[in-house]
Amino acid sequence: MKILTFDIEEWYIERAFKGDRFERYAKFDAYLDNILKLLDETSKKATFFCVGKMATEFPKVIRKIAEQGHEIGCHSNIHTWLNKMTQEEALQDTHEAIDSLEQCIGKKVLSYRAPAFSIGDNNKWAFEILARCGIERDASVFPADRDFGGFSSFGHKEPVLLTYNGIQIKEFPICTTKLLGKELAFSGGGYFRFFPLWFVKKEMKKAPYSMCYFHIGDLLPETNGIMSKKEYEYYFKENGSLKNRYIRYFKSNFGKKNAWNKLEILISSCDFVNLEIADKSTHWNKCPQKDL
Ligand SMILES: [Zn+2]
Repeated sequence: MKILTFDIEEWYIERAFKGDRFERYAKFDAYLDNILKLLDETSKKATFFCVGKMATEFPKVIRKIAEQGHEIGCHSNIHTWLNKMTQEEALQDTHEAIDSLEQCIGKKVLSYRAPAFSIGDNNKWAFEILARCGIERDASVFPADRDFGGFSSFGHKEPVLLTYNGIQIKEFPICTTKLLGKELAFSGGGYFRFFPLWFVKKEMKKAPYSMCYFHIGDLLPETNGIMSKKEYEYYFKENGSLKNRYIRYFKSNFGKKNAWNKLEILISSCDFVNLEIADKSTHWNKCPQKDL
């Protein structure tokens, strides 16, 4: 089972940080159109995890995706990471996001991905919040070490039925592989830009389950500038030292030139499904269960 997902946030983040630069929106629109066209031509459905504010500030973008039959999932309301929020803030953020998205598309939202995979050992309570807000499927677990977020003690890289404090949620974690003694992701974001396509395809062929995740920002060939200290600290909520900003600059720009071509080949050559379809075809009674 190969699952295809996108995180949709760029328009909102662009407005929040830089104001309205309409030429940037036009670029995001063009790449989204490329993705939707490719999915249509190859008869594939994906899950698009969308920031709630996109539904109120850029509703046409969300509706365009939904109208083509793709699943709209939730990617928080304002893209603040769950591990930087209190439980009350996370509850409010999730409620608002789901409400806005459901009003925008006229359909229930049942799938969720936390910004920056920000559910880990220290904020397992987030699963309870998601379930209580009506979420049935989650794709927030990154079962390896990561700069931000990550849940390295999770111990599974296949679908798992999670229970926590009386709730149940179907977890679809990111897939990882062991490389030089380290568990590493390979099928999305900066990892997809970094690894050659033959390696990504080989790993996906080997595993019975894979979860791919992309952002429009991964696919734009132009490089992003170095963030100012203020921008970095506002966004990442950590020290915006020159070193940290340069590391982020490198990681967010590496391999961008070739990323769209790689993605085009990958989508055309793999049998992808979205989370909704993956859920229906998963034999949950045979999946591992984990009580957090
Ligand atoms: Zn995101």
